[in-house]
Amino acid sequence: MSFASLGLSAELVRAVTERGYTEPTPIQAQAIPVILKGGDLMGGAQTGTGKTAGFTLPLLQRLMANPVTGKSHIRALVLTPTRELAAQVEESVRIYGKYLPLKSMMMFGGVNINPQIKQLHGRVDILVATPGRLLDHMQQKTVDLSHVEILVLDEADRMLDMGFIRDIKKVLAVLPKKRQNLLFSATFSDEIKLLADGLLNNPALIEVARRNATAELIEQRVYPVDRERKRELLTHLIKEHNWFQVLVFTRTKHGANRLAEQLDKDGIPAMAIHGNKSQAARTRALAEFKTAKLQVLVATDIAARGIDVDGITHVVNYDLPNIPESYVHRIGRTARAGRDGVAISFCDHEENGFLRDIERTIRIKIPSEDKRTGRSASRAGGEPAPHHHANGRNGGGNRRGGNGQNRGRNGGHGGQGHGHSGQGHGEQRPQRAKGHGNGGHQNGHRNGSRPAAVAGGHGGGEDIGGMKFMQRGPNRPRSHAPR
Ligand code: AMP
Repeated sequence: MSFASLGLSAELVRAVTERGYTEPTPIQAQAIPVILKGGDLMGGAQTGTGKTAGFTLPLLQRLMANPVTGKSHIRALVLTPTRELAAQVEESVRIYGKYLPLKSMMMFGGVNINPQIKQLHGRVDILVATPGRLLDHMQQKTVDLSHVEILVLDEADRMLDMGFIRDIKKVLAVLPKKRQNLLFSATFSDEIKLLADGLLNNPALIEVARRNATAELIEQRVYPVDRERKRELLTHLIKEHNWFQVLVFTRTKHGANRLAEQLDKDGIPAMAIHGNKSQAARTRALAEFKTAKLQVLVATDIAARGIDVDGITHVVNYDLPNIPESYVHRIGRTARAGRDGVAISFCDHEENGFLRDIERTIRIKIPSEDKRTGRSASRAGGEPAPHHHANGRNGGGNRRGGNGQNRGRNGGHGGQGHGHSGQGHGEQRPQRAKGHGNGGHQNGHRNGSRPAAVAGGHGGGEDIGGMKFMQRGPNRPRSHAPR
């Protein structure tokens, strides 16, 4: 299928072709025709699916279809949870609209408001904003939203998580009643459904990923580890496997700072990005990360939202998030635009509950790397062992140099005995992925000789590169004492 066949104009097709896109992603193929017709849309899509172009392209085309003469007005409003995402969406608007005479503007807090006020005096057709700063402008009467024809709520779930619901409602109150509404969300909580009910008019529902599913093509793995050994394990894994463009999540800003410093000391170029950093520092860190000068970016959830770096190969949950949806968002930072990615989670004893909640939400039991079998040492290339694709698509198996058998949902690790299936010490773990038939991605991996099973239920210490790490499994003692 081509972009042209979706009904997009020659200017837009030219812009995406120059961008290197040869065909629409599934969300684009479904969303573009609906939006072009003028209907409301509820899109269940996470980042990495191409959703930004999915709404930007038809939005631009609709604005072009009804050119306005005379005084210009803001005709499309895109709300995003973070400044990074606002910047990225606005950049997309410029890239895709490069052959169109439309002007866009990004607006977010943390920077001087005056240049924004000045820019608003000029022509702005499409405004991409975070809710807080937009509200500031509304209060100062420096923005006029009374001519908005199209409203997009991007990553609506995260906006609600971040407490923007009141701001959003205030914005909605000043918009013209008659408009097109597009809402995108990676997850569908009751709160989101409530927002959608009040906002959307007979919307088309498009869902490209399973509800609360983790992005496809992402290998997921848990490393049980004592808390005080996490840094050592991280340094070891990064160095051993020469990981590049690693995005690491910590729970706190302080933790992010400390870890970035420690990694730097360990000889791994790293920087932290979080809400306490100035916009300039965040932009610089992101730019260095994008250009691969920086090997590791350590981020908190909020700061990382909207990070769109295609080359992120590994996402590491240094601390597990206590909100399962955050896990989905975090790991969605890798495996973007159809590439593969790896999501690693460090889980200390106290985080087992978080892990269970996450697994329940994504309906997958994440394979646990058992170092005590010595299995990883025997793997070609020293690649870590078991992995799992949530629901393979697009022939991911071929990309991995295998036979493409990794397409099945939940295929791959079911029934393989990960050694943490709930016997022994009350770890009632979900087993839904069990017994899925086709052998999953194991056969499709670039290293076809990988052993299929992960032995479970071992005692004793595990050893990676001379370091010992804790094991999550039935025989693991309850005690937190180092072994
Ligand atoms: P998004 O989900 O909008 O954050 O997009 C994820 C990434 O996919 C971005 O880096 C886009 O540049 C890229 N992308 C979007 N659409 C396509 C497409 N049709 N073909 C290839 N890459 C795409």
